Amino acid sequence: MVTFSGAGLSAESGIATFRDPDGIWARFDPSVYASQAGFNAQPAHVVEWYNGRRRAVAAAAPNAAHRALANSRATAHITQNIDSLLESAGADPVIHLHGLIGWDRCNAACGYREAIDSSDPPPLRTCPECGELLRPDVVWFGEPLSPQIWVAAESAVVAADLVLVAGTSAEVWPAAGLVELAHDVGAAIVVVNTEATPVSRISDVELLGKAGEIIPRLFDEDYGMS
Ligand code: NAD
Repeated sequence: MVTFSGAGLSAESGIATFRDPDGIWARFDPSVYASQAGFNAQPAHVVEWYNGRRRAVAAAAPNAAHRALANSRATAHITQNIDSLLESAGADPVIHLHGLIGWDRCNAACGYREAIDSSDPPPLRTCPECGELLRPDVVWFGEPLSPQIWVAAESAVVAADLVLVAGTSAEVWPAAGLVELAHDVGAAIVVVNTEATPVSRISDVELLGKAGEIIPRLFDEDYGMS
């Protein structure tokens, strides 16, 4: 089994999702806060916005769904989330398709990366290696995913007998394509989400409700999916 998660997995930890009616993109413009052009136009403002999200992530704790996934026999946890709550719950390995909000990287891609203290994040600063600006190490709209990370995710999915899809609108590509790939190569698809999504039609089992309530029950001895 492999898990594939999105922002809904962390919603019950108090971290806002993107596309729900009260989600981040209902209140903030993604072209400002999740694009290279937005960062180039107002880098200090964009970093301050991420620093607010960093403080929220630093204050959050894993919920029952993170813990149940971490304690399952999943061979890999592929996530679109940029928080580290799966790791905090003990999940291993975790494949982060869209980067980590707790890291900065050089905006000029000189290769420099640095972990930051998300509870007390620094303001906009320059790269100690090349003097360009540092930016959050997350994938913004229009940016490619890391080829190494993509290959690791594809390999995990192709080897899986079952993919548990949790808390994702399945609207962000190429990430959502991993669920299609798993289905195409014969894996069972189990979806846990508060609403139907584009992957509903290829799911073998779809459980509508909150991840923190449903996922722990999937791994009860009675269900035996672990
Ligand atoms: P999304 O906001 O597009 O979709 C979240 C989905 O989760 C929705 O379908 C919603 O109905 C569902 N959901 C909400 N609460 C839930 C709950 N308690 N239990 C189960 N399902 C619930 O998020 P996505 O699909 O992950 O979109 C991808 C992008 O969102 C990624 O790029 C990711 O980086 C980013 N994101 C990450 C975080 C995080 O790291 N925690 C937070 C917000 C956005």
